[in-house]
Amino acid sequence: MPELLELTPEGLYCRAGDFHVDPWRPVPRAVVTHGHADHARSGMGVVHAANAGLGLLRWRLGESQPLEGHAYGESFALGDARVSLHPAGHVLGSAQVRIELDGEVWVVSGDYKRDEDPTCAAFEVVPCDVFITEATFGLPVYRWRPRPRRLGLAAAHLPRDRCQARARDARQHRRAGARAARRGYRRCRAENRTRRRELTAPHARLRRPL
Ligand SMILES: [Zn+2]
Repeated sequence: MPELLELTPEGLYCRAGDFHVDPWRPVPRAVVTHGHADHARSGMGVVHAANAGLGLLRWRLGESQPLEGHAYGESFALGDARVSLHPAGHVLGSAQVRIELDGEVWVVSGDYKRDEDPTCAAFEVVPCDVFITEATFGLPVYRWRPRPRRLGLAAAHLPRDRCQARARDARQHRRAGARAARRGYRRCRAENRTRRRELTAPHARLRRPL
């Protein structure tokens, strides 16, 4: 049986359904996992996406981009394939793409997270035969702090002067955060270098089993 998805210059392509997932270049039919710029690009014939993410996609891709929304879990036909979108827990409207053909199921995760997040639907485990996963920060040197329980979502309802004060605070926090991130990144690179040296050293497996 041929592979359900293959890599083409435009991105991941499903021949049975004649569509791409998060294509890099304009194609007639795209299934887009979410509205971030490295996944959603303009110029597609039509973009299929989760209903919850249509607002973000409209804002990013412009009024002229045809969009077709789907509820999470709703199964729809593209060519010979059945496709459905399932919550990925990454941002509002983010979706994993489930593709089924002749009883075989493949899932493309898109960006996802399994932490609790009040801004979007929680990640859903989708049983499948083949799972294609994003792993942007997959190296074990990346460690994340637990997410704070309360997020500052109420800022829009504050008087203007308090909003400005909060925006100022947020800018200062971001600058401090960026400095800390740069420090963390340098530390990660150093750890990676050490780890690479250990792994490529003669008899590395004997000295430090993986
Ligand atoms: Zn993303």
